Amino acid sequence: MKALQLTGPETLELRDVPVPEIGPNDLLLRVGAAGICHSDLHVLHVPFRMRDEPLTMGHEIAGTIEAAGADVAGRTEGERGIVYLCWSCGICRECVSGNENVCLAAGRTAMPPCPGLGPDGGMAEYVRIPASSFVPIGDLDFLQAAPIADAALTSYHAIEGARAVLRPGSTAVVIGIGGLGHVAVQILRATTAATVIAVDIAEDKLALAADVGADAGLLADAGAAAAILDRTGGRGAEAVFDFVGIDSTATLAVESVAPNGAYRMVGLGGGAPEITSGPAGGPGWPWGATVRKSYGGTRSDLINSVELAKAGKLRVEVERFDLADGRAALDRLDRGLIRGRAVLVP
Ligand code: NAD
Ligand code: ZN
Ligand code: ZN
Repeated sequence: MKALQLTGPETLELRDVPVPEIGPNDLLLRVGAAGICHSDLHVLHVPFRMRDEPLTMGHEIAGTIEAAGADVAGRTEGERGIVYLCWSCGICRECVSGNENVCLAAGRTAMPPCPGLGPDGGMAEYVRIPASSFVPIGDLDFLQAAPIADAALTSYHAIEGARAVLRPGSTAVVIGIGGLGHVAVQILRATTAATVIAVDIAEDKLALAADVGADAGLLADAGAAAAILDRTGGRGAEAVFDFVGIDSTATLAVESVAPNGAYRMVGLGGGAPEITSGPAGGPGWPWGATVRKSYGGTRSDLINSVELAKAGKLRVEVERFDLADGRAALDRLDRGLIRGRAVLVP
């Protein structure tokens, strides 16, 4: 089969590789579509090899069950679904509490095995997955479904964790209207009554935010924090979702979150927010605000996201590419040229 593999730093190759073999508790999925996440760019740019053998990328996977392992119950060939990307143990204290994204087996700062980041992923014709990671999608289109596996999952989880402060009358700020951000705007619209302010460096991304339901858009410039304070009576936004995560967006979050508000770091840009224990006052961190470095989501967040899509309340803006054009699609994403999500079709 063809697979898009990372063979070294900055090196992606479309290679002929064997169709994966499956174990007794696995499924072989015929890939229908695989989304490209900005995290794939982070991985492409790391200056060392993630593992010795080539790695098939792709952690946003939708497809059809081609074959099931001998011990798999309750799944049938031909069933369509997406892959829950936290391949967590399923039985530890965190997993059974519904916190599979912080499975005990992952240790303190690592993440549970994720296809395309440790095990081979879905930018290929076939992928091996643990049967427990399969989530049915009914007749959802594969191009729509694949980005739900991460862009929606991760956004949903960040919003779910801030739900207590997202009351009617609250304001939510979404920084970075890319694959995740444009989905986050829709999840906020569909599941809260908060006013949604989108922030991006690009006018066309603010236009996308408006198309998917944001109430207002702001350019990410030096005046953005003041503009958010202005729109919230000087109070700030009850929730700030940062899908960029660099120093400047971290500063914006610190300066624009409300007292008791929620600042959620999702973007992995290495930004270091300046949060001090000094008495409040001025542009710094307000009383009671919380910060969470949000990773992925729970299986429940994923199922809820699928339901939103099925109900027509979440529509991913998709740019479709052939698998063979994966490198070109990644380069377009790197240059900020993708509207919504780039999705590969093998
Ligand atoms: P994307 O490239 O599709 O979108 C990024 C958006 O941010 C673009 O619209 C871009 O114009 C905008 N942007 C760039 N610089 C900005 C700035 N200074 N201020 C405001 N907006 C700016 O990326 P994506 O796939 O949506 O991923 C977003 C981030 O989330 C990435 O860092 C990715 O690695 C990370 N991510 C994290 C998790 C997690 O579990 N924490 C999961 C998936 C992705
Ligand atoms: Zn991702
Ligand atoms: Zn576990």
